[in-house]
Amino acid sequence: MIIYQYKLKCSKVQQALLDEAIRTCQFLRNTALRYWMDHRNEKFNKYTLQELASENNFKSEHEFALKLNSQARQQAVLRTTNAILRFFKKQGKFPKFKKDVRSFTLTQTGWKLDNECNHLTLTDKLKIGKMKLVGKRNLHFYTKEQIKQIIIVKRADGYYALFCIDIERKEDIGYTGKNIGIDLGLENFLTDSDGKHIENPRFFKKSEVALKRLQKDVSRKKKGSSNRKKAKIKLQRKHLKVQRQREDFVVKTARQLYLSNDTVFLEDLSVTKMIQKNKFKSIRKSISTICWGKFKDWLKRYSEIFNKNLILVNPKNTSQLCSCCGLMVAKDLSVRVHSCSSCGFEAHRDHNAALNILKIGQGMPKFKPKERKSSNMELVSLC
Ligand SMILES: [Zn+2]
Repeated sequence: MIIYQYKLKCSKVQQALLDEAIRTCQFLRNTALRYWMDHRNEKFNKYTLQELASENNFKSEHEFALKLNSQARQQAVLRTTNAILRFFKKQGKFPKFKKDVRSFTLTQTGWKLDNECNHLTLTDKLKIGKMKLVGKRNLHFYTKEQIKQIIIVKRADGYYALFCIDIERKEDIGYTGKNIGIDLGLENFLTDSDGKHIENPRFFKKSEVALKRLQKDVSRKKKGSSNRKKAKIKLQRKHLKVQRQREDFVVKTARQLYLSNDTVFLEDLSVTKMIQKNKFKSIRKSISTICWGKFKDWLKRYSEIFNKNLILVNPKNTSQLCSCCGLMVAKDLSVRVHSCSSCGFEAHRDHNAALNILKIGQGMPKFKPKERKSSNMELVSLC
């Protein structure tokens, strides 16, 4: 599945209608949740709530809900169903009522693209109509059947359409015969087993002052006033910018690692647990703003695209063991250099940890080295 994102160019009227669609979606999600809460003793499965989205249910009252496309209604209810099922499987918390829904989802009906694929028309009873798509990707190559979902999202800087296209993305970049161990840290974003490090960009810290100021602006303004609304939008835009910077950094770093390596060994950190367990507020904050989780997700994604490996290694003792002789050299966080009294090996503590991660990973049964092979493109150019 790949996702293409376009900004929607729409008029004030269309914006209001899109907002209405999103509000309806929120209403449906909450109505479904209310229904389940009132009927908790009854049997529940994934079809229980679907009837709620049907036409008959809204005929007498809440007729506004019928303006939204029927599949969009189904999708809204499905979100609540999934949250409830996750709760039953102990994968999620007790579902809550939503007050900040920002999107609605269309599947196969309720929309069409023009011949040039430059405009999206929403064809439900809300009469949102034709909107220009602003983006670099070309939708020409895909049939309507391949576009499984369109998610319309409201962000601080406008409305977006996300096209979820059902094709597998594969790129052949060849194998290099190299493997690498990665240690993630707060001092440096990552240190690899070759001793190279990538600095932590600290986008959040840089923007923190500005964010604080904007936050203050919002709280100073009178509740419900239009000035508060404006200040809020400014704050949201800044958050959005920081979020995009982080995402961009993580994507590029993950891609770069796979361009020069076949297998990436990464410590299997549970970011949520680390945040919960840590005593120091400043460290908790640093961990939560550093986006290791996203980095791991992108490494996984690229390993699939390039047909390479991502192997997660238990991080236990990786910073304490000597990567050269295996001796346990106990040290607390303030000691930045690993120095072994037995074999004399000396390195930065993160480099030593990365070497340990590489060593442990290569000894794992699931590690199967890739054979060195140039990509097809390189072969063509050699001929
Ligand atoms: Zn040693």
